[in-house]
Formats: sequence, C-alpha cells, structure tokens
Amino acid sequence: MTQRLILASNNAGKLKEFNELLSTVGYEVRAQGEYDVPEADEPFHTFVENALQKARHASRLTGLPALADDSGVCVNALGGAPGVYSARFAGEPKSDARNNEKMIAELAKHEDKSAYYYCVLVFVRHPDDPQPIIADGRWDGVMIAEPRGDGGFGYDPYFYIPSLGKCAAELSSEQKNAMSHRGQALRALVEKLKK
Ligand code: IMP
Repeated sequence: MTQRLILASNNAGKLKEFNELLSTVGYEVRAQGEYDVPEADEPFHTFVENALQKARHASRLTGLPALADDSGVCVNALGGAPGVYSARFAGEPKSDARNNEKMIAELAKHEDKSAYYYCVLVFVRHPDDPQPIIADGRWDGVMIAEPRGDGGFGYDPYFYIPSLGKCAAELSSEQKNAMSHRGQALRALVEKLKK
C-alpha cells in the first residue's frame, strides 16, 4: 500500500526527483501547495532546524507525514557563509544573479575558493514526531569567477568540480543528482526509511 507524503516545497523538479526514489519505499509524494499549505518561516541559523520547522508545519496543516529539505552553499574562506542564507545572500528580493555577483566580489579578496553545497532532509511521521528521520549530504567544489554552463540553478554556474573539470551548471540533471548534496541526502533517507 502506498502512503501519501507531503513535500514542504512546491518545486516541481524536487517533487519529481523525490517521487522517483521514495516510490521505491512505498511513498507517493505530493507538494504542499496541493493542500494550500503556505510556506513556513525559516527563522533559524541551522539547516536542520529550518527543515524541521518546514516539515512540522506541512504535517500539522495536512495531517500527513511530511518531508522538508534545506540547503545552501558554504564557502570556507567566508566562515561557511552564506549557508542557510544562500537564497538571500544579496538581500531582498532574492536574485541568483545578485547573489553570484556578491559571492565573486567577496571571494576576490581570498585565495581559498573552496566551498561545498550542503543539504539536509527531515521526515516527520506526524507534527509532534519525537524521532524525525534526518539525512544529509555534502558536495565539495571550488567557486570560480567566470560562469560556465546553463543548467541547474542558483550558484551552479560558478560551482566548479575539479574531479569532473566542469561546473554544476554543465551537468545534466541525472549527472547532478548522482553527485549532488540533495541526491546524496535523498539516497541516505531512502536507506533509513527501508529500515
Ligand atoms: P533551498 O533549500 O532549495 O531553498 O535552497 C536554498 C538556496 O541555496 C538556493 O536558493 C540556492 O541559492 C542555494 N542552493 C541550494 N542547492 C543548490 C544547488 O543545487 N545549486 C545551486 N544553488 C543551490
């Protein structure tokens, strides 16, 4: 029997990707927008707290199990910034172009360009679940000053993976999912759900 699971996001790409893997462990993933769930606040300083807040919010408003993700890029020379603030690094309204411009300007002052994408997934069986299932993933790379590729989103044109000799925006979505922070976290979550 399949169990319905609410995704605390309305991103169609994530919905498809999550459904593909989670259907193998008996879940049918639906976007929270289908249930008129508004976006939750993300007031915390850690990825895991924000993801837990989003998952609880979706579960509370739908009465169903829920899954949330939170992710960002962490730059070592910037002490892990922008991290949880990646979407709005350059302020409101959020803009990938302005975020990347700010990133490149900040990094020009530093020799160390290393960075990593981080993603955490939180699954709650119900809003007050005392044992949420948590899985995470990390993808290492280097920020470069000139954009490459037109795939992906966010910081992908500037996120270079030395072992591939390519930026994340130069990968197909299958290649990206096979390596990315989100792909790793999702596969780890599926393994935990199997148990
Ligand atoms: P969210 O957790 O999907 O809302 O992502 C937060 C922000 O982190 C995004 O708006 C991007 O700026 C950045 N980010 C997270 N994952 C990726 C990725 O795979 N590629 C590029 N940027 C990402």
